[in-house]
Amino acid sequence: MQESTPRFFDVHTHVQFAAFDHDREAVIERARAAGVAMVNVGTQIDTSRAAIELAHKYPGLSATIGLHPIHTSKSFHDTDELGGGEAAKGFSSRGEEFDYEAYKKLALDPKVVAIGECGLDYFRVNDEEAKNKQKEAFLKQIELAKEVKKPLMIHCRNAFSDLIEILQTTHYSLQTSITHFFTGTKDDAKELIKMGFYFTFGGVITFTRDYDEIIKMIPMDRILSETDAPYVAPVPYRGKRNEPAYVVEVVKKLAEISGVSEDKLKERILINTRQVFSLP
Ligand SMILES: [Zn+2]
Repeated sequence: MQESTPRFFDVHTHVQFAAFDHDREAVIERARAAGVAMVNVGTQIDTSRAAIELAHKYPGLSATIGLHPIHTSKSFHDTDELGGGEAAKGFSSRGEEFDYEAYKKLALDPKVVAIGECGLDYFRVNDEEAKNKQKEAFLKQIELAKEVKKPLMIHCRNAFSDLIEILQTTHYSLQTSITHFFTGTKDDAKELIKMGFYFTFGGVITFTRDYDEIIKMIPMDRILSETDAPYVAPVPYRGKRNEPAYVVEVVKKLAEISGVSEDKLKERILINTRQVFSLP
């Protein structure tokens, strides 16, 4: 495969997940044919390693490494992510502790463009112990991002006030970050814009109008595009497994909501993406 200039960027996707075990190569080829470059995002140690491996194997692929907040406690096992039965072998069990040195080794790989996905997710969590474990892992990943000078890829659900407080107290605002599929309020968005954050949106925006107002208030130089594949495919693929090539539909919708031409937004997103990840 020849390295070619991408026309689209899926900055948050998981092609290394088990959901793609049967046709990963074809999925990557379809993305390449559509001009889509991608960042495969790690969620625990094994999916982080797998993301790096893929990035070294195919042109146009980068990786992030990190521990997702839901993997800091024993939780729901997602077979799309880790596989089931025999496929689950070799993957670490849930309730992972963030091993700073092990992740640091991965973080230094030149294909790694960010630390995460990390952050806070209180959606199914109501005990303080689990919340504290998430905070602890998040703080360590902030420290790592500072040490290796790479941005954070943040996942946050139902926890924006704690998240913003942590970011402010650790002075993280000194470095750029990405909040993946932003679901906070307008006030949360304002705070994060002030801190220099970039925002990504995915397939959900093609079938609900819930995010239109937020999208309109985010400056164009802070918008990125993602699929979060294999989850939540955009219209017209809704209900199917998602994949990076579908980011084209997300960009189309983002342009429509923002009231700018698709070409202009496309170009802007490429510039933003290179900027936030320091890509050539
Ligand atoms: Zn994700």
